[in-house]
Amino acid sequence: MQMIIALVVAAGRGTRLGGATPKQYLLLAGKPLLRHSLETLARHRAIDRVRVVFNPGDRDLYDEAVAGLDLLPPVAGGAARQDSVRLGIESLEGFKPSRVLIHDAARPFLDGVTIDHVTAALDEAPGAIPALPVRDTVKRATGGMVGATLDRAELWRAQTPQGFRYPEILAAHRNAKGLDLSDDAAVAERAGLAVKLVAGSEANFKVTTEEDLREAERRIASGLGDVRTGQGFDVHAFGPGDHLWLCGVKLPHTHGLIGHSDADAGLHALTDATLGAIGAGDIGVHFPDSDPRWHGAPSHQFLRHAADLVKAKGGVIAHVDVTIICERPKIGPHRAAMVARIAEILGLDPARVSVKATTTEKLGFTGRGEGLAAQAIATVRLPL
Ligand code: MG
Repeated sequence: MQMIIALVVAAGRGTRLGGATPKQYLLLAGKPLLRHSLETLARHRAIDRVRVVFNPGDRDLYDEAVAGLDLLPPVAGGAARQDSVRLGIESLEGFKPSRVLIHDAARPFLDGVTIDHVTAALDEAPGAIPALPVRDTVKRATGGMVGATLDRAELWRAQTPQGFRYPEILAAHRNAKGLDLSDDAAVAERAGLAVKLVAGSEANFKVTTEEDLREAERRIASGLGDVRTGQGFDVHAFGPGDHLWLCGVKLPHTHGLIGHSDADAGLHALTDATLGAIGAGDIGVHFPDSDPRWHGAPSHQFLRHAADLVKAKGGVIAHVDVTIICERPKIGPHRAAMVARIAEILGLDPARVSVKATTTEKLGFTGRGEGLAAQAIATVRLPL
């Protein structure tokens, strides 16, 4: 019986794209870059196990990125990519796999057909890589001057996952230790292993630059043409207390808000808006008042549940907009914190979150200070 293990290399510290966050943990359509290819690998029938080679310094980012996926525990990588792959391959020895697929975390658009091509080719050769022809004419140049025109019929652009028979690539990597070869096929070539080319995919490109990340977002968005809007409304009455929760932020106040949970009307309205956009009922259906589990519960878990339901449909939240209606407390000083908190709960860029406030000119129950109200709109994009 063959065992095929996929190894995803995500140990790099490249932070060029996102400030302090390594590239593989940046969000793409609301999901860390790394998670996109992991989901594809983990659900592919031909692949038995999946392991990530990571940097242990990124433990928290890693745990969050892979939550809920059935993976082998990650292993620590090395200083350079080639060291990381070698350590990953060596870590699999106890499983005695027959084949290993090595994939770069920065290629989020891996598809099942490419995996099929690579694994099938390993029946014919000890190595196989997806590759694409070069369409542009290729020049060799020095100092800005063309020296020669290369025969592009012989040139190919190598992608990942690169597949190998396990014992052969283990030996090849051990023998190449300390060298700096540009991919695993180069390690195999150096060991004299035949590496077969199979059809790659233009979609399976490597996210390297800011422009690549935007292109990746566009690619996903273009498949999410079913745009839905949901709205929510909620009211809670003021009662005794010295603080209240609004939009996930604790505000000191002369009163508290009365409710079964933490009475965060902002998050409740937003949860209903999000549920409304996907036709998934309302907050009371998912978290009934009668259930003691939700007594005093922090409302971020309600909103996160709604966001998970969107994700489970393969959708993304494009934008949310919350309006708080009250005379007091003043929302302005806390607005930025509320936007940041909602963005954190939903895993969204804060630019996709809006919090506004208004009064009712002292009219009605909000005007009399008996309670506050919140309304929200969520825009969700689902696959067509
Ligand atoms: Mg409520």
